[in-house]
Amino acid sequence: MKYYSLNRNSEQASFSEAVIRGLAPDKGLYFPESVTPLPASFIKELENLGDHEIAFNAIRQFTGGEIPESDLREIVEGTLSFDFPLVPVEDDIYALELFHGPTMAFKDVGARFMARCLGYFNRNRKNDSKVTVLVATSGDTGGAVASGFLGVEGVEVVILYPSGKVSDIQERQLTTLGQNITALEVNGTFDDCQDMVKTAFLDEGLSAKQLTSANSINVARWLPQMFYFFFAYKQLKNKDKDVVFAVPSGNFGNICAGIMAGKLGLPVHHFVAATNINDTVPQYLHSGVYEPKPSKQTISNAMDVGNPSNFIRIQQLFDNDLKKLKSHFSSYSYTDRETREAMKNIHKSSGYIADPHGAVGYLGLKEYLKDKPGKTGIFLETAHPVKFLDIVEDTLGTGIAIPEQIQAVMDKEKVKHRIATYEDLKQFLLDR
Ligand SMILES: *Cc1c(COP(=O)(O)O)cnc(C)c1O
Repeated sequence: MKYYSLNRNSEQASFSEAVIRGLAPDKGLYFPESVTPLPASFIKELENLGDHEIAFNAIRQFTGGEIPESDLREIVEGTLSFDFPLVPVEDDIYALELFHGPTMAFKDVGARFMARCLGYFNRNRKNDSKVTVLVATSGDTGGAVASGFLGVEGVEVVILYPSGKVSDIQERQLTTLGQNITALEVNGTFDDCQDMVKTAFLDEGLSAKQLTSANSINVARWLPQMFYFFFAYKQLKNKDKDVVFAVPSGNFGNICAGIMAGKLGLPVHHFVAATNINDTVPQYLHSGVYEPKPSKQTISNAMDVGNPSNFIRIQQLFDNDLKKLKSHFSSYSYTDRETREAMKNIHKSSGYIADPHGAVGYLGLKEYLKDKPGKTGIFLETAHPVKFLDIVEDTLGTGIAIPEQIQAVMDKEKVKHRIATYEDLKQFLLDR
């Protein structure tokens, strides 16, 4: 299995090359050259298989034979050390909870898988060839990457986050770990952070630094997110109805992985990408014009993305055919007010506490299912509500207990460096 660049101006890369580079030399995203569906018997048997077995089989072809079976199994087992419960919320509506990992956001799985792959590829390297993982975060990526990469040999992690635009808990998760993790607080927006990271990758002056990305452009972060969709399907008691997944989306990596799970044979009827007012994709489905915009700040801040980097992969999965895309994929956007209303309604009718991202997913699911009875709907709960404590408590008028993973970072000191421009970032990287 090789990966090609979606800009089609670079040589193909092996899995390890794609993981270490992040982005292809022509700045394109890597995409697998072929996808072989899993045997129908495997899908039928899902119920009887453990999570590790399912994940190993789903990811195996994408590692291109570069990680021996026993090592890959170890990586999968190390990555998936927590549960992914499917929780009934209403008749035929379920929340798939992806927040039971160490940083309580779904990005833990991708970050942990990628860290373990890089650790494996680095196992024989000398210390003078360190890799620097450079990552921009709108909130949750930073914490998941910090936790996933903490202590990995030969890997330095530098995280950029927009000042004042991440929650207190999110900031603590990425500024309190120390060791090989450094946090840079950027005077700007998430898009500014992402632009700086992209500029650094293209900067010849930094080429000696072996930079790689741990954003979902990296195939080792993107692809393991397929697992969730298999785990959800496995837990469904009644598999006779059509299954619809709604995914709260920002960079569109998670939903893109779901579509890939569909390519592997998972029977998914339809995908719904739900966004906040950062509505580049819903607008595109509506008008046929793809027009990236500057991101706007919302209460679902992990989705404040104006130019979703993975959408190009979704288009490729549908052969760049808008009609085909629309027949399996819908996208709707919601304001903060609608999101808060949904949080209240879900809580009132079922007692379930959704975080703002999950609530956006729920809204998208309900909108799609409105005139389509007899289907099973699953929305992804991408973060624990405690990560958005102020918003959740303020909206629902109820307190939430602080889980121990979060308690552990609450009294630690935040350590970060402040930067404002790309030149500051470059100087910081050169000085290390
Ligand atoms: C990152 C994130 C999202 C968006 O995921 P994408 O793969 O970027 O679309 C949604 N919810 C939460 C809580 C997140 O951290």
